[in-house]
Amino acid sequence: MAVAATAGMLRTLHRMHRQLADLAEQLLAGPRAVTARNRQVQAAEGKKAAAAEDVKRARMAADQKQLQLKSSETKLRDLTAKLNACKTNREYQTLGDQIAADTMATKVLEDEILEALERIDTLKPAVPAADAEIAAAKKLLAEAEARVTAETGRLEAEVARIRADLEVAEKDLADDVREKYDRVVKQKGADGMAPIEGHSCGGCFQQLTGNMVSDLMMGRVIPCRSCGRLLYMPDSAPAA
Ligand SMILES: [Zn+2]
Repeated sequence: MAVAATAGMLRTLHRMHRQLADLAEQLLAGPRAVTARNRQVQAAEGKKAAAAEDVKRARMAADQKQLQLKSSETKLRDLTAKLNACKTNREYQTLGDQIAADTMATKVLEDEILEALERIDTLKPAVPAADAEIAAAKKLLAEAEARVTAETGRLEAEVARIRADLEVAEKDLADDVREKYDRVVKQKGADGMAPIEGHSCGGCFQQLTGNMVSDLMMGRVIPCRSCGRLLYMPDSAPAA
C-alpha cells in the first residue's frame, strides 16, 4: 500500500505546487500587461508634446520673419521718401540701387514667410493624430485594468482553494517523508519534486543508479543526488 500511496501523494502534491506556481505567474502577468499599456499611453503623450512643440517652433520662426518684413518695409518707405530729396544724380543713383536691392530682399523674405506658413499647416495635423493615438492607448489601458481586476479575483480564489487542498493532502504524508518534503518545498517550491523519466531525474535529467530506481519502486522517498528534488514514480495511467 505504501508504494503506490507515497508515489501518488507526491504526484498529487507536486501537481498542486505546479498549479500554485502557474497561478503566481499569472498573477504577475496581469500587472505587467497594465504596465505595458501604461507605457503606450505615455509614449503617445510624448508624441503629442513633440508635435505641439514642432508647431510652436514653426510659428515662432514665421512670426520672426514677419517682424523682419515689417521693419524692411518701413526702411524701404523711408528710402523712397529720401529719393525725392536727392540733390545729385549720383546720390539718386546710389539710393535707387539700394532700394532695388532692398526690394529684392523683401521679396525673398515674403517667399520665406509663405514657406514658413505652409510648414505650420503641414505640421499641425500631427497634434490631433497624436490625440487619437492617446485616446486609443487609454482605451486599451482601461480594458487591461478591468480584465486584470476581474482575473485577479478569480486567480486569488483559485490559489486559496488549492492551498487549502494542499494543506489537507500534506497531512497524509508519513512524518519522515513530511520532514524531507517540507525542507525541499521551502527551498525550491514547485521545483522540489520530480517524477523519474526512464532512469533519470525528470527535473535535471541526471541518470539514476539501479539502486535508486529499486528504492523508488519499493516506495521509498529519495532525493535526486544532483538537484535534490524528491523523486517519485510517474503515473502509468494517463493523467486526467
Ligand atoms: Zn535531479
